Amino acid sequence: SSSVHSNTSSLSDAPFPDAVLPAEGKMNATFVTLARNSDLWDIIESIRQVEDRFNRHYHYDWVFLNDKDFDENFIKLTTALISGRARYGKVPKDHWSFPEWIDQEKAKKVREDMAERKIIYGDSTSYRHMCRFESGFFFRQPLLMEYEWYWRVEPSIKLFCDVGFDPFRYMAEHKKIYSFVLSLYEYVETIPTIWDSAKKFIKEHPEHIAKHNALDWLSDDDGESYNHCHFWSNFEIGNLNWLRSPAYIDFFETLDKDGGFFYERWGDAPVHSIAAGLLLNRDQVHFFEDIGYWHVPFTHCPTNEKKRLDLKCSCNPTDNFDWKGYSCTNKWFDLNKMQRPEGYRDQQD
Ligand code: GDP
Ligand code: MN
Repeated sequence: SSSVHSNTSSLSDAPFPDAVLPAEGKMNATFVTLARNSDLWDIIESIRQVEDRFNRHYHYDWVFLNDKDFDENFIKLTTALISGRARYGKVPKDHWSFPEWIDQEKAKKVREDMAERKIIYGDSTSYRHMCRFESGFFFRQPLLMEYEWYWRVEPSIKLFCDVGFDPFRYMAEHKKIYSFVLSLYEYVETIPTIWDSAKKFIKEHPEHIAKHNALDWLSDDDGESYNHCHFWSNFEIGNLNWLRSPAYIDFFETLDKDGGFFYERWGDAPVHSIAAGLLLNRDQVHFFEDIGYWHVPFTHCPTNEKKRLDLKCSCNPTDNFDWKGYSCTNKWFDLNKMQRPEGYRDQQD
């Protein structure tokens, strides 16, 4: 079976160094959004909520990225809403195209086949470029090189509760590297061979595997197969230096060489999640119970009533996805021996 459990002596004890922690004030952090000009009205809604619930007290920057030039209207309206600096970058062509080792004919046949099987985004080339970009390139765009922390925001999300603390500072103080609010099972049709590539990486790079990793959250049979659990990456707060580390880059390149972004339809969520599960210690990944969040079609609403009232949450607690059958957050709590919040039983299916 897997070499992860059998040979722990070669594994990494301190997978990632502690982050910089200023005594007070802002962290070196930014929001980041990948968007098209046509996403304007949907991203505006997201920005308004992030500002009202959090950023008007902090004024963190916001970096926008696009494979095309942002138009004047997009820049004007988004800049007006953001209390920090709003900055705009264009993704270079080679971060948004087929690598030369990809067989175009094979990739085209996959798209046609997936279209017929009605797999979501299965026929889309741009969606695949997006997923590859979010997996391997967003964190090394020149504008992002200046920052240590990021908070990813997508169009049409909702923030249900006041964020009455600085999540970036929280992450640094508690030695966290990656975080999530929702987790679930991935459609297997989009990632049938991703675990083969992950296993190849484990074999080739035992030095990158964390000693206290979360393999048992990703696999129910000691690493033999993937159970399809992943953190939902449309919300992420994380450490950019980790994504820029040799461990993560080696991981991304192993996957990229195997071509699954184009021969299948690998999402950046399973890519980030498998990386976090293997390269980080379990206690470096954080579940933000307090951040109420929605991205179609799933809700994370704080389970605890006192918390919802204190944070002025506007979500319906029965919508909370955390404890339902298709969520992987149950499994995360079990693996980490975390105590479930009071009231969770009322929110199971
Ligand atoms: P879903 O959440 O998986 O349904 O995918 P989305 O349509 O929300 O896309 C994920 C993110 O990538 C969002 O922030 C989109 O604005 C962005 N995105 C998707 N496709 C493109 C694209 O072709 N160009 C650009 N610039 N951004 C894109
Ligand atoms: Mn989305």
